[in-house]
Amino acid sequence: MVFNSSDIGAFNDIWVFCEQRNGKLENTDFELISEGRKLADERGSKLIGVLLGHNVKDIAKELGGYGADKIIVCDDPALDVYTTDAYTKVLCDVAMDKKPEVILIGASNIGRDLGPRCAARLHTGLTADCTHLDIDMEKYVDFINTSSTLDLSKTKFKMEDINLKMTRPAFGGHLMATIICPRFRPCMSTVRPGVMKKAEFNQEMADRCEIEVYPVSISQEDIKTKVLDVVKEAKQIIDLIGAEVIVSVGRGIGKNVKEGIELANELAEAFGGGVVGGSRAVVDSGWLSADHQVGQTGKTVHPKVYVALGISGAIQHKAGMQDSELIIAVNKDATAPIFDCADYGITGDLFKVVPMMIEEITNAKV
Ligand code: FAD
Repeated sequence: MVFNSSDIGAFNDIWVFCEQRNGKLENTDFELISEGRKLADERGSKLIGVLLGHNVKDIAKELGGYGADKIIVCDDPALDVYTTDAYTKVLCDVAMDKKPEVILIGASNIGRDLGPRCAARLHTGLTADCTHLDIDMEKYVDFINTSSTLDLSKTKFKMEDINLKMTRPAFGGHLMATIICPRFRPCMSTVRPGVMKKAEFNQEMADRCEIEVYPVSISQEDIKTKVLDVVKEAKQIIDLIGAEVIVSVGRGIGKNVKEGIELANELAEAFGGGVVGGSRAVVDSGWLSADHQVGQTGKTVHPKVYVALGISGAIQHKAGMQDSELIIAVNKDATAPIFDCADYGITGDLFKVVPMMIEEITNAKV
């Protein structure tokens, strides 16, 4: 198989690696397929999902409902449970054969392991933990505006010079870096879960989606590790990404942590089925577990209502919540930066303000 990652003109199509666990697709798959659709339309290319696993063909069509033109299914007992070796080999085999221009992978634990391995093997670049993706059409627009001919063979401009712009926070979140991979293909990117918006499911698109079963070639010698058992953590992990209401607490609950978290729970409950999140300060202090953390190194959320209690609004916290539909902030410091992104700001002691909020919401329901 001839594969040269610098022969950029040989690469086409946008791919999304679709992650499944126990035969169930991950939410990130739908987000990335939805985003990939937009990029493919802009680029004028096809959007293709790649699904690895065992007995997973039946779940592939659903991905079409979010915009995939085709799903390549790699089915083998060796792909039943994720192993770095097996998944890297199979994904790279298919990529070397079909030469996609872009591969997007969710920045889950699996994606963060798989992406860099594949990038190294394919001899290309990867931008990790992206929060924004764009097609760089500037050169194309320049070409259209300035060239006297639209015949590409008569100009220096080549369609393959169009790059994927991959944006991610840099320098501790103080600035956003936009990165391109101009000399190698595929352009690879891992994308933070919860950042891209999931499109509405469309049954007609799902029916139209083509399924290609790709013959997998893998043997036990290719896999250096053996999964003996998968043990699920007994504790209940909080679903911040899917929540419609999030009440987050910050270091401001410090004078009575137990009461602060109880108040947040009650407020979340009063809104109707909300969940409690927290700043990194709260997680680092051990007041809430890491799955509650909102922000650059936590979860990116966009609920209908986000309440920030005693959170200062550091840039790294805002990076995870500023796209919420409605933001309410309570802080005793009127100059706290959280108020810059809040739709409603209440200056005061959260231990006094929150009971009043709960009472008002409860009364409004009666
Ligand atoms: P503080 O900044 O200490 O703010 C506490 C606030 O509570 C203050 O504004 C104070 O006025 C208010 N307050 C105090 N008492 C009361 C009261 N009784 N009633 C009302 N208000 C009160 N942070 C995150 O949150 N998420 C991340 O993912 C994240 N990732 C990071 C990644 C990097 C690389 C770095 C360098 C930092 C990251 N941080 C993250 C940390 C971030 O910079 C802040 O330190 C953190 O968000 C501060 O948390 P806080 O707002 O709870 O605490």
